[in-house]
Amino acid sequence: MGVVTDGFYKDYKKVNIEKNKIYTVNIEDMSDEGLGIGHIDGMAVFVKDTAPGDEAEVRIVKVKKNLCFGRLERIITPSSFRVEPFCPIAKQCGGCTLQHISYEKELEIKKNRVLNCFSRIGGIEEPEKYFEDVYGMKSPYHYRNKMQFPVGVRNDTSKGAFSCQTNTVLGFYAGRTHSLIPITSCKIGHGVNKAVISAVTKWADKCKISVYNEETGEGILRHVLTRVGYATGELMVCIVVNTKNVPELDKLVAQLSKEIDKYRAGGNNVKLKSVVMNINKERTNRILGDKTVLINGRDHIVDYIGDVKFQISAQSFYQVNPKQTEKLYSKALEYADLSGEEIVWDMYSGIGTISLFLAQNAKKVYGVEIVAQAIEDAKINAEINDITNVEFFVGKAEEVVPVWMENRIGEYDSNSSKLHKGVDVVVVDPPRKGCDEKLLETIVTMSPKRMVYVSCDPATLARDLKYLLANGFKLEKFAVYDQFSRTMHCETVALLTKG
Ligand code: SAH
Repeated sequence: MGVVTDGFYKDYKKVNIEKNKIYTVNIEDMSDEGLGIGHIDGMAVFVKDTAPGDEAEVRIVKVKKNLCFGRLERIITPSSFRVEPFCPIAKQCGGCTLQHISYEKELEIKKNRVLNCFSRIGGIEEPEKYFEDVYGMKSPYHYRNKMQFPVGVRNDTSKGAFSCQTNTVLGFYAGRTHSLIPITSCKIGHGVNKAVISAVTKWADKCKISVYNEETGEGILRHVLTRVGYATGELMVCIVVNTKNVPELDKLVAQLSKEIDKYRAGGNNVKLKSVVMNINKERTNRILGDKTVLINGRDHIVDYIGDVKFQISAQSFYQVNPKQTEKLYSKALEYADLSGEEIVWDMYSGIGTISLFLAQNAKKVYGVEIVAQAIEDAKINAEINDITNVEFFVGKAEEVVPVWMENRIGEYDSNSSKLHKGVDVVVVDPPRKGCDEKLLETIVTMSPKRMVYVSCDPATLARDLKYLLANGFKLEKFAVYDQFSRTMHCETVALLTKG
């Protein structure tokens, strides 16, 4: 890192970037939010829809103390990494921010983001030494097994552009707003969504099902949620409604069956197994309410990750990219290096996906998760797989694990210095904010032989690694997985050992 001199600051202060003025900017990098980053006289400028390597005319829209934001006016010289966006609403939709960049470059951006965090935040020297690979998808489309579409009414601006034939429309919100962009299909969701969108909108039109209005709180249909088991082809359609008295539900099932049969006739192995209705009467941004009612079939679908079977209901948390999840979990299992004799902790266990994966090769797996319903699902999933060597706890990992440890000291050995014999492997898979420091402290005292850290945010992973490396752990290796293709998000799995 360069030394910032007084001279630099003097020059820097002279930078006078004017709002609304157009500047020529060379885009050098990508921000964590998927904005291109360039510089004007040393000041960083963030520009949506640009790619590293672009030379562009940029209109400044916002100037802050030491950075500014611009809007792309014109590309002067396009980056060699540019590709044609695959979706007609790429610019409006708040979804895939990297559509205009080649997939190869996307993987490189993700890899570099992790490496940067490791050196900048984690203080790890030459992180490349520990880097195994970045694992992308063969085809980064149609990977999402879960979609949630808000419902709206077609207006004049949406008429021709997206060829919606119906008055009721499903779509996505434009970035950072609640204005609905109607769609007829989505390139990152399963292909069957096209049939579902068509069926639900036709049904709503024909049966005069009103559309929920966020401002007045009136109207019935709020959202449509779909889930597909990629290994089984099982489909769930869940309509989210504002009342339990929805008319003509039999016609909804008939319309769905008809459109999905048509889709199947094209050689697609999708079966409509579950139609449910979730009731959400709250005036809130939360999509799902607490109550789900069965309309037709089962209240859940079944899917597999590897050999492990999962029951997934409308409300269950489940990884959205099943193909990549299987690869990621296989790597976590490889890093855990289990022989069948180990005591393992899976912290932030969700519905037990990693726990059950590990349990097949461990003596005993303990899981802890804050959401009680997820633990209910985890127990069902253990049962339907005949896995008996797992035990799940509901609560905050940072509260449950220390108490478990204290009890364990008495149970195993009064001499706490031998405690490491208690737990062999710890796996953590926290949400974006990373692990609680209290939990990290506990893991240090647990002193497992190996720790596998699965992370969806490289910045908090790097912060936690810094703590763990300062407290006796050693980084062995890590790999990056593209779970969320065409967006800036990625997963990292790291192996640490205790000397
Ligand atoms: N390992 C699971 C879930 C990972 S997502 C899987 O792969 O499917 C992170 C999980 O951590 C979520 O299920 C969330 O509910 C849970 N969580 C968040 N804060 C927590 C805490 N303090 N203690 C335990 N679990 C927590």
